[in-house]
Amino acid sequence: MTKTYDVAVIGAGVFGAWTAYSLRRAGAKVVLVDAYGPGNSRASSGGESRMIRLGYGADEIYTRFAQRSLESWKQMFAEIGPHAVPLFQNTGILWLARDQDPYCEAILSTLQTVGARFEKLAGDEIMRRYAIHPGEATWGILEPDSGVLMARRAVQAIVARACEMGVDYTQARFSADTRIDADQSVFACGPWLPKLFPELLGELIHVTRQEVFFFGESPGGYPGLPAWIDFHDLVYGVPNLDGRGFKLAIDKHGPKFDPDIGERVVSEEGLAAARLYLARRMPLLSDKPVLETRVCQYENTWNGDFLIDRHPERDNVWIVGGGSGHGFKHGPAVGEYVAAMIAGTGAPEPRFSLATKQRVQSRQVY
Ligand SMILES: Cc1cc2nc3c(=O)[nH]c(=O)nc-3n(C[C@H](O)[C@H](O)[C@H](O)COP(=O)(O)OP(=O)(O)OC[C@H]3O[C@@H](n4cnc5c(N)ncnc54)[C@H](O)[C@@H]3O)c2cc1C
Repeated sequence: MTKTYDVAVIGAGVFGAWTAYSLRRAGAKVVLVDAYGPGNSRASSGGESRMIRLGYGADEIYTRFAQRSLESWKQMFAEIGPHAVPLFQNTGILWLARDQDPYCEAILSTLQTVGARFEKLAGDEIMRRYAIHPGEATWGILEPDSGVLMARRAVQAIVARACEMGVDYTQARFSADTRIDADQSVFACGPWLPKLFPELLGELIHVTRQEVFFFGESPGGYPGLPAWIDFHDLVYGVPNLDGRGFKLAIDKHGPKFDPDIGERVVSEEGLAAARLYLARRMPLLSDKPVLETRVCQYENTWNGDFLIDRHPERDNVWIVGGGSGHGFKHGPAVGEYVAAMIAGTGAPEPRFSLATKQRVQSRQVY
């Protein structure tokens, strides 16, 4: 590449796509490069759907990020125009909470602080409205304005929009031999970051294998079902939004995974665990056929905080990642943050810094 750019963004997942878009909007000349293509099936952003919720326990920083991002996603989709499958689906998000539940109690007070709409529901109301058997969940919180992003398609749409605005996109794998003439570079390579910076990130980003199942519900299925989260059992469900079926996923960190060569076939044990869980919560689905499955990966920092910082030895190199199983929704706010940091107008968030990253794994942000 001979053209001179202000910024080269490597990686066109949700973080790279929004970063390229935000930089271009701020007037920068940008090239965006991806090895396998925007929203590809190996990428963490390559799934069909990702939830966007505001609840983050007491972590107001992520609630505010999500709130801002939701507005930006909606604005972006209005700008892009209609899609056959709407890229944001306002299903609502339902939290299943227990009697002693400091995390969900903290969600209530944070949602109040940021002025977000929510409804507190009793267990029997959850059953009546949605036919979800609450079991140990004695109450819940409904976020009526939240919902689900059609992830893969949304990333592709943002890259297309960025290109219309003048971003150059190239499909190529960045390696030590790649030469791009740019003043600054941003590496938004998700689970590949430890491969690109093995000495720096090899022990700071843990890539884990995660399984997802789509069950074929009966016609008519569960009308009006919100996407729901049960963080006590580390399970969440997404209603059938585009004919793929009801999605159930296990949020517990799986074994170590290689995003290039890892085989993406789910395990029998994973399926058995998913059916067992459904038998308790949504028994009508527990014996329904599996229509599709996916194996994806989380790129976890030690506690779940993002990693957005300069390379410690190269001032003009930025590392943007550590989505840690919850990053997708924040794409717009992350893009804005990176663009402001590069322009020198942003205030650094200590929680995103490299200095705060530890080698132990102790998940705190969900
Ligand atoms: C099963 C599952 C469910 C999830 N659910 C949710 C959810 O409900 N809500 C939510 O907010 N988040 C969720 N997440 C998390 C979210 O999807 C990720 O945090 C987010 O997609 C990470 O995006 P990224 O841009 O950092 O990485 P990726 O999407 O992985 O993008 C990285 C890109 O870099 C490219 N690349 C890598 N190496 C190179 C190279 N050398 N040269 C060029 N390009 C390169 C890759 O091809 C890839 O396209 C979920 C994740 C998984 C796996």
